[in-house]
Amino acid sequence: MQILVTGGLGYIGSLTCIELIEAGFEPIIIDNLSNSKLQVLNRIEALTDVRPVFYQGDICDSAFMQSVFSAQKIESVIHFAGLKSVAESVSHPLEYYANNVNGTLVLLHAMRKANVKSLLFSSSATVYGDPKVVPITEKTPTGATTNPYGRSKYIIECMLSDLFQAQSDWSITILRYFNPVGAHPSGTMGEDPQGIPNNLMPYIAQVAVGRRDVLSVFGDDYATEDGTGVRDYIHVMDLVEGHLAALKTVSKKSGLHIYNLGTGQGSSVLQMIAAFSQASKKKINYKICPRRPGDIAQCWANTDKAARELNWKATRTLLDMATDTWHWQEKNPQGYV
Ligand code: NAD
Ligand code: UDP
Repeated sequence: MQILVTGGLGYIGSLTCIELIEAGFEPIIIDNLSNSKLQVLNRIEALTDVRPVFYQGDICDSAFMQSVFSAQKIESVIHFAGLKSVAESVSHPLEYYANNVNGTLVLLHAMRKANVKSLLFSSSATVYGDPKVVPITEKTPTGATTNPYGRSKYIIECMLSDLFQAQSDWSITILRYFNPVGAHPSGTMGEDPQGIPNNLMPYIAQVAVGRRDVLSVFGDDYATEDGTGVRDYIHVMDLVEGHLAALKTVSKKSGLHIYNLGTGQGSSVLQMIAAFSQASKKKINYKICPRRPGDIAQCWANTDKAARELNWKATRTLLDMATDTWHWQEKNPQGYV
């Protein structure tokens, strides 16, 4: 069964391709390489003995998208392609709306034309904005987003909901990721941020491996246990397994399905530093800095719905996340080169 994976050479998409192949699916990858490298295809092949069909192209290119659907027998789409930097979205909002919102629109048109009506979409906990109550359930209000990236995800969710209202034979699954971290346990595939990492885990990993001197901890005066920000970090392989679980269950049924993918547990910045120190046996230099504008104090998921309906639960610990990230970073200090 062919699954179109947009953004399939990126961090989460590429690891999803590994699991798809291992589960007997045939991933067909589209990626424009704006935030990934062709070498990822070699790593997928090295791990699975399969070199997936790859189309280098842009999801915003309507003729290109239609040609891919015409050439293949796609049954379902997992849509990862998108720009994901919060800071960049603030300085380049039009690029974010064009790529994320318009790209999804072009994809949906191409799907409709090809009569493919099954979609899994990568959304984000950012659609919840700054929640009044944690843990966050799927019923927690959405829309009070704090930046253009978050708004692009929220607008796409609205579009998908409108589409389902109009065409109830579609199966649309919205997966709201919390904080994906970690790498493939082989240490051969992982996150490869370009430039200075915005996110905590890749930054810590680069300090541990000596690429950066010191981690800035953004605020120690939040109303959390140790004063630093709390997030629901989820091992990327657990996240990937959540996609497979959705693909095998709800994506076969028409409906608008929405799930939080997290662990249900919050961890602070200092806890993450401690876990990484333990995994890498390195001291992580850090300094306390002012809060990062736009950051929320804490956020973690209620994951009961996914457990109940997808029969899926994250199982890997914070130490597993740090250990796998460290193996990847240590073996590939400059990422995919
Ligand atoms: P990533 O940047 O590693 O992967 C995205 C891939 O999409 C890249 O390979 C990029 O080259 C490709 N791409 C971007 N725009 C494209 C376009 N117009 N046409 C074709 N390809 C395009 O990101 P990721 O971490 O793997 O995230 C995947 C998805 O999950 C994104 O939609 C992201 O917003 C979402 N998400 C990620 C996180 C996270 O922390 N990583 C959290 C929540 C949601
Ligand atoms: N953080 C930090 N230093 C960094 C990057 C992040 O202290 O260099 C903190 C940030 O303030 C937040 C947590 O780590 O409390 C997770 O940040 P990240 O950017 O990884 O995820 P997000 O804020 O998007 O959930």
